[in-house]
Order: sequence, then C-alpha cells, then structure tokens
Amino acid sequence: MRADSLEQAFHPDGSVYPVEFKHGAKRQKLHDDIQLAAQAICLEEMLNRLLPKGAIFHATSHRRREVSITPELRQRVEETADAIRAMLASGRLPPPVNDARCRECSLKDICQPEALAERQRLKRLREELFSAAG
Ligand code: SF4
Repeated sequence: MRADSLEQAFHPDGSVYPVEFKHGAKRQKLHDDIQLAAQAICLEEMLNRLLPKGAIFHATSHRRREVSITPELRQRVEETADAIRAMLASGRLPPPVNDARCRECSLKDICQPEALAERQRLKRLREELFSAAG
C-alpha cells in the first residue's frame, strides 16, 4: 500500500495525520475510509504510536473530511485484508464491477471494466443462444 502524500501526514506539533487524496466532490464513502484506516494502521506499526484520526482530501471540491480511526473501522480493515488474502489464495479475481465506482478509479485504464463487462455479456448471450438452440 502506498499513501498519496506521506509528508503531508506530519503536523508541525509532531502528531501524525495521514491524508488520502481523492478525485471528486466531498462525500463519505466507506471504501475511502477503509483505505485511510489501513494507511493509519501501517503508519502506527512503522512509528509505534497511535493515530486516532486522518483525513480524505476531495480534489474537486477542495474540501477535507476528517475521519476517526475507530475500532469499527479497524475491524473493517481486518475483514477486508482477510477477504483479499482469501481471494489471492483462490487464484481467481472477481469480475470488474463496471459501475459508478469505476469513473474515479485510478486503475480504470489497466482494468478496462467496460471491455471485460462487454466480453462477459457476449459470453452470456452465446450461452443463451446455444441453450435455446439445443
Ligand atoms: S475500474 Fe476496475 S478496479 Fe476500479 S473500481 Fe472499476 S472494476 Fe474496480
């Protein structure tokens, strides 16, 4: 995992405050909060200190949203990490979601969700065609 800007995470008073930059206007999204909390946990392990808060900076609206790194959010990070480990162990990636989340995703160019979704749609149509013909 790579933080967007670690130097901005360090406040003049010595406290550490991770900041994650996101495209789009200010709005709360759980997956953004989970990513920020995961970065906070990594920093805690590196620096051996507790990080109670961080922030998401929304580029379009130039607004900042402070996020408390709560026990519930930490639990979601653990569950997400477990789910990713299980997915990697299975050797199978889930299909691209190809929904509103893709619009602002930095992986869109290499993921190509529309192209893969179209291929899946064609596969489904082919299966329907042959099952109807059989
Ligand atoms: S572009 Fe790919 S990785 Fe990004 S949200 Fe869509 S499906 Fe997920």
